[in-house]
Amino acid sequence: MRQDSVKWVWIDLDDTLIDFRANSRVALRLLYDEMNLGRFYSCCNDWIAAYEKNNKSLWDRYNRAEITKEFLRIERMRAVIADAWQGGNDDLVSLSWEMDRVYLARLAEQKTLVGGAREMLDYLRGREYNIGVLSNGFSQVQHLKIASAGLTDKIDLVVLSDDIGVNKPDRRIYDYAMGKAGCPNPEAHVMIGDNPDTDIAGAIAAGWGAIYFNRSKVATPVMHERFVEIGSLASVICLL
Ligand SMILES: [Mg+2]
Repeated sequence: MRQDSVKWVWIDLDDTLIDFRANSRVALRLLYDEMNLGRFYSCCNDWIAAYEKNNKSLWDRYNRAEITKEFLRIERMRAVIADAWQGGNDDLVSLSWEMDRVYLARLAEQKTLVGGAREMLDYLRGREYNIGVLSNGFSQVQHLKIASAGLTDKIDLVVLSDDIGVNKPDRRIYDYAMGKAGCPNPEAHVMIGDNPDTDIAGAIAAGWGAIYFNRSKVATPVMHERFVEIGSLASVICLL
């Protein structure tokens, strides 16, 4: 990664800028109360743990393009209440969609950022980089989440996998982002993200610079052969 050639800094949204894990837990708690999920899980923490385990495995499959977005959205709810469900399948599917709708609505209202995210964006802006968000999240909620977190004015472009129907690490989304930016030189782009299998693998394949945000694992930047690893967003100052 040659710092002087970088024009665009692309940043993953969930768990890189926005504290998705914290915000999701608040939304799951609200969903539990709002939709009376105590009838399936007497303890809210058990509900959250079951949901997160199932959701993680579905997202891994979604990122590998093995399942559709619709399947992910219904199944992440349906699978964790199916065992305790007493009624018919159609009712279970309807309830699962309603749970998904309420969850996404509550999620979009949350505002917690990853520590240092706002300062990093201000720093990058001060250095006159263009700033993009590159996310596999759903367009229905990602724009709302950016607005709720007060980040709209700090970001020049938002590119979502939903826009073109392919997810990171598929390099077509990186090529698409370069097209949207009007800057076709891969060396002018850097990706910062918390997922090595999607954010970082895709950036490397596309010829971009890559900064792996390994949250709280390393104090100072570690140079790997093809990417840099940081443990806090403040370390970006050392790199860009
Ligand atoms: Mg992420």
